[in-house]
Amino acid sequence: MQLSRFLQLKTPYSRQRVRVLLAQGRVRVGDEIITDAHREIDRFIRVELDNELLQEAQSRYLMLHKPAGIVSATVHSEHKTVIELLPQSLRQGLHLAGRLDLKTSGLMLLTNDGSWSRRVTQPESKIAKVYRVTTRDPVPDEAQVVFQKGIYFRYENITTRPAQLERIDDYNSRLAIHEGRYHQVKRMFGYFDNEVTALHRESIGALTLDPDLRPGEFRFLTAAEVALFE
Ligand code: URA
Repeated sequence: MQLSRFLQLKTPYSRQRVRVLLAQGRVRVGDEIITDAHREIDRFIRVELDNELLQEAQSRYLMLHKPAGIVSATVHSEHKTVIELLPQSLRQGLHLAGRLDLKTSGLMLLTNDGSWSRRVTQPESKIAKVYRVTTRDPVPDEAQVVFQKGIYFRYENITTRPAQLERIDDYNSRLAIHEGRYHQVKRMFGYFDNEVTALHRESIGALTLDPDLRPGEFRFLTAAEVALFE
């Protein structure tokens, strides 16, 4: 629905009066003052008139299949962002519940619900994130035990939480980690002087990337999926 129509429905004001209010910069949509009467409004955006709430933004929760080469940020000067993969009408107020490196693909969660995303990302939640990992060199047998014990990261002065490695073949494995340190998976394989050549996140907790989503596609989470992190 267009903003002018929305304002007419939500206030006692006439179409003409609404246009004046807009021109006077008294209407805020999300974080912005909007003067354009034609701006599309849906239930996912907050609308205020003179700082009075006309509509609260309804919470939204999305899963997206991040392609490699897209940056997981809301704005970036060089690369296309995951937010730009979404229609304009859904972008306002969304943030990422966890990030992936530029070349990493797979499951990303986006929401406008800060408490929910904190539960997904905070280390105390210990939610497993499972990655499919391809490496330059074969993965040694001992990696399973070493990852389970944890690897010391000097920069943060921490030892990684026990992580579970499942070897698929010499060059492909599946790794479950329970925190999200900077470049964590790459650094863990770096311990063996091995290089991660492809990385794909398959799941976060009990939530698995929908196989029907091709790279770049997204869908809303179901109520049951949202409830997994409540
Ligand atoms: N670990 C990494 O090294 N990169 C990612 O994108 C995610 C986990």
